[in-house]
Amino acid sequence: MIVQIPTRKYKCDAFGCKNLSDYVIVNKKLVFNGSIYLCNDCLNQLYKEISKFITPKNVKPPYKKGEYYDKN
Ligand SMILES: [Zn+2]
Repeated sequence: MIVQIPTRKYKCDAFGCKNLSDYVIVNKKLVFNGSIYLCNDCLNQLYKEISKFITPKNVKPPYKKGEYYDKN
């Protein structure tokens, strides 16, 4: 599943939202049919909801292996 900026602006797929889409979620495995178009507001709202369940992981830990880590 990937998030892209759409080449053409369709209406946001969120129910009741009248904005034009800024992002499109494309699923190449087609678990859901086609793509989901979302505006900036709805994507941020979705991100906030998702972050209640999943915390974003750091790409790299802020300290190196073997380095002294101060836990206060
Ligand atoms: Zn929207």
